[in-house]
Amino acid sequence: MFRREFVKDFFYSLMFFLFRPFKALKAQTKYSHFLKIEFANGKRTDLSVLLIGRNYYLSLDDFSNLGDYGIFTNTARQKSVLKIGNIKLKFTADNPFVVINDQIAQILNLPVWNEGSLWVPVEDFCQLVNDFTSLHLEYLPNVPKIQFGAKNINVLSVSITQKANGTLIALNTTQSFSANKLNTRLVNGWLYLELIGGKGDAKALTHKVKDPVVAEIRAVQFEKLLSIGFRLKKIPKDYQAIYDGDLSQVLLTLRFKEAVPENTQEDQLADNINEELKNQKSAWMIDTIVIDPGHGGKDPGALGYYHLKEKDIVLKIALKLGEYLKKRLPHVKILYTRKTDVFIPLWQRTQFANKNNGKLFVSIHCNSNYRHSVNGFETYFLSSEKDTKARNTVLLENKSIEFETSEDKKQYQGINFVLATLAQSAFIKYSQYLATVVQRSLRNRLRSVGMTDRGVKQGPLYVMVNATMPNVLVETGFISNKHEARLLRSKSTQAKVALGICEGIIKFKKDFESAL
Ligand SMILES: [Zn+2]
Repeated sequence: MFRREFVKDFFYSLMFFLFRPFKALKAQTKYSHFLKIEFANGKRTDLSVLLIGRNYYLSLDDFSNLGDYGIFTNTARQKSVLKIGNIKLKFTADNPFVVINDQIAQILNLPVWNEGSLWVPVEDFCQLVNDFTSLHLEYLPNVPKIQFGAKNINVLSVSITQKANGTLIALNTTQSFSANKLNTRLVNGWLYLELIGGKGDAKALTHKVKDPVVAEIRAVQFEKLLSIGFRLKKIPKDYQAIYDGDLSQVLLTLRFKEAVPENTQEDQLADNINEELKNQKSAWMIDTIVIDPGHGGKDPGALGYYHLKEKDIVLKIALKLGEYLKKRLPHVKILYTRKTDVFIPLWQRTQFANKNNGKLFVSIHCNSNYRHSVNGFETYFLSSEKDTKARNTVLLENKSIEFETSEDKKQYQGINFVLATLAQSAFIKYSQYLATVVQRSLRNRLRSVGMTDRGVKQGPLYVMVNATMPNVLVETGFISNKHEARLLRSKSTQAKVALGICEGIIKFKKDFESAL
């Protein structure tokens, strides 16, 4: 008996190790374990949990009974929505994506459906709850135990109201912020408010807004300050931030020339979970894909063997990719930043994607290196992190701005770049997932021609900076390598590359949308 259980346990650990997070796990209901719960007031209780592989799983139904948390379960689709405060977390069985209000997060271990209830990995669950809600859960996996605690924050929430002469944004705080602790600046349609000494729950503060003036709010916590960005639908004539001691609020006022309409009571919809979920779903569906062939016109991109120019190769691959996507996803709109040999500044490429409500942005490039032996394909997602191995590619691709006018160049300088990268932080996780699945399907397609898989990389790439959608940059190979130049010149390899990217996109779309 012991032996059998051990073997089974080992088998699940092995399956888990091999296939996470992409393959479903079978619930192992035989073992009964208990998770200790300790509330902030010292009260205690136990929850029974499942042990799958090395992870404990709790039932969302059980968790909802611990406090005043709403739960809504769709048994047919094996989905549950847990409501903590005004944050809704939607989990789907066997799916790594979790929808949180109108954001999507990704977890490592997949939720499982078991005996009419959705079970979620305790560790990932606590992480999500801590990141996105006002609860703080300390998880001690060795006991196992969850301790409810309080969050150490002084900026609690944001509210927006429309007044006859402008917009009032109010932040509820637990401490005062004197005028010299409040900075504001308006950059590319974003109004940023920095609170020096501010501590907030950045993910809980970040959300899309139904408001005639503010489209979304994104908060980022730094060591010494909390930065809250408001994406505006219209640019104010002037704006000002002050602390109001009576209200214990930081007030950010925006004044416009003309009056804006009074706010409607749309927030009241919160109770009608189903209705909201439908709206969310249509907003997130991947119905428009933007393909961006790198370089063009006066910017040839990398130069390689056989007089190859990057701009020509990537245009051919991009057009082929569009063809495949149209065939495989006939209801999806496919747009190109360029279909001919023209020059387009980097910042205009993502602006085009944003304006057209692109849901995915895929930039296609070829690589080059002074060492001609260097070869292989790789997929990038944007991050401000410095991956030293990616340095050459980042420098090379960012060089495109040398062809741009000084006016265009301003888009990437100094603080603009940092802020724009931050504005993207909400997408980085699924850009990373998109990069992972694109790279994997490229590997499947390019193995036969002997091209090397250089893996998924990250870097501060200008072309992706302002995209407000999941986005990746594919380096399809090195035209400075004779073998790969020959391959990339051929129609058949171009088609293989296009097909690989296409299959990655389809996989991402399927996983992403089935979480909605
Ligand atoms: Zn390039």
